[in-house]
Parts: sequence; structure tokens; C-alpha cells
Amino acid sequence: MIDIIAFDADDTLWHNEHLYYQAKKTLPKILVNYGEVDAIRTSLDKTEVENIEYYGYGIKSFALSMIEVAVDISQGQVTGDEIREIITVAKNMLKAPVELVPDAADTLKDLSGKYDLMLITKGDLFEQERKIGISKISNCFRHLEVVGEKSDAAYRNILKKYNIKPAEFLMVGNSLRSDILPVLRVGGQAVYIPNEHTWFHEHADEDEVGGFKIVELERLSLLPEYVRQLK
Ligand SMILES: [Mg+2]
Repeated sequence: MIDIIAFDADDTLWHNEHLYYQAKKTLPKILVNYGEVDAIRTSLDKTEVENIEYYGYGIKSFALSMIEVAVDISQGQVTGDEIREIITVAKNMLKAPVELVPDAADTLKDLSGKYDLMLITKGDLFEQERKIGISKISNCFRHLEVVGEKSDAAYRNILKKYNIKPAEFLMVGNSLRSDILPVLRVGGQAVYIPNEHTWFHEHADEDEVGGFKIVELERLSLLPEYVRQLK
């Protein structure tokens, strides 16, 4: 019997990755004098993942990665004006409006009458709190958790903090690596709702999926019906 339904936020309830997608198209234009599009994108992908251990997730981390790529690709020749353009790209991302995915508000309203809902998002606290604040859906949630990394330990801590039995916990998200597999590993249930713009770092290979059976729904509006038929 499910007692608590937890939701990922970025690219599960609202669009997020499209901002990064756009920025990744803009950076090679800013650095056009220094390198080819493919080389800049490859360098950015690599730098972004390498920098997680220094800065964590989020746009400020991404901004530092873009600047690092600019310095490296230009061999130190990037100008102050070009760095300023990169900073403007990041600031525009930080100020972007929150656009909910279709049916997010109705689905949450439907479920919040019957279950305790929780929002579990990872990344930069300042950024995530801003988005939660302007999302107009925060009142659907009984609990909000912003964690640095969605690891097995992070989910175990949340279950312990709220005294939730794993079998009564269902997590919904677009990332196999962050929302689904760690929850299944700690004994909870999970529903995977893919999003076309999911960051490659959030994909999981076959080894990581292992023997777990992944429950996948095409869209959020199918979730209430799925939850209703759970024993
Ligand atoms: Mg997500």
C-alpha cells in the first residue's frame, strides 16, 4: 500500500534541460573564433561531468564549466566581452520562468487529495527553492527535500527522517540513475516517466539497471490510474 508519493522536479514536473540544451547551442557561437562546434560541445560535456565533484549540480556549476571550456578552447585568448556573454547566458537561465509539463498541476491535485506528496530535487538550494517558489504547485506537497545527490543513502535518510517504510514509498521521475534505481535498491517503488531532454549523465546502462523491472509511463497524467491499481 503506497502512503507517500515523491516526485522529482526538473524534467518530471517542469521543463529544465531545454535551458541547458539551448545554452549548449549558444556557447559554440560565442566561441566561434576559437574552435569547431563539435570540439566545444565535447569539451563542455566532459568538463560539466568532471566538475560535479567540485561544484555539484545546477546552473552556477554549468556557468563555471562554460567559462573553463572558453579558456581551454581559446588557449587563454578568450576576451572579457566573451566571458561576459557567457555570464549573461547563465543569468538568463537562472531567471527563466518555470514551465510545468502538461498535466502536472491536475495530476498533483488529483493525487494530493489521497496521498501525502513529497518533492525531492537535487542541486543548488538557491536555484531549486526559486523554482519551487514560482512553480504554483508547491502547496500540493506536504514535504520538500533538496539533496546534493540522489544516492541510495540520500533516499534512506529521507525514509528514516519521515519514518516511511520503503514498501510504502513511490518515487516518480525522469532519471533512471537518480530517481528510479536508487529507490528500487532501498526497497521502494518507482515510476519512470522519460523526458526527451534528459541529460546524458542521468541515463543508466544495462549493468546499472541489473535485474530491476522498470515501471515506465509515457506521461504524468497516467500516474493516478497506475497508483490506484497498486495493491
Ligand atoms: Mg529530473
